[in-house]
Amino acid sequence: MDNCIFCKIAAKQIPSKMIYEDDDVIAFHDINPAAPVHFLIIPKEHVATLADCAEKHAALLGKMALLAPKLAQEQGCGYQLDATGNKAGGFKTLFNTGPDGGQEVYHLHMHVIGGAHPWSTKS
Ligand code: 5GP
Ligand code: ZN
Repeated sequence: MDNCIFCKIAAKQIPSKMIYEDDDVIAFHDINPAAPVHFLIIPKEHVATLADCAEKHAALLGKMALLAPKLAQEQGCGYQLDATGNKAGGFKTLFNTGPDGGQEVYHLHMHVIGGAHPWSTKS
């Protein structure tokens, strides 16, 4: 879509610090991180908001959700249980939707924010 900054990042017309790519999605570091680890997972297809998703996007949303813990692990903020069952690490996932949801870029994106506790309250 013309003039969509995340479409341009997905098309590599604008550089980003990419950490993952496949046929459907890319993930890259947020330019203004709210925590030590802060990256975005976006579909390559332009979808403006979570509210614009339809049934046909279910697999895409599932892929994005499943990627979050995998990439968080790679970025050093994975969630795990240690050998004695204690919980450690972890991250926050966030879709801002619409003006009241604090959305600034109208191309669907999942924030993954971690590496610090207490978490950022980015909204
Ligand atoms: P929103 O408020 O729409 O949920 O968040 C948009 C996010 O995109 C913000 O955290 C902002 O820092 C990030 N962002 C905006 N423009 C760019 C850019 O050109 N490159 C990268 N890597 N992140 C961006
Ligand atoms: Zn777009």
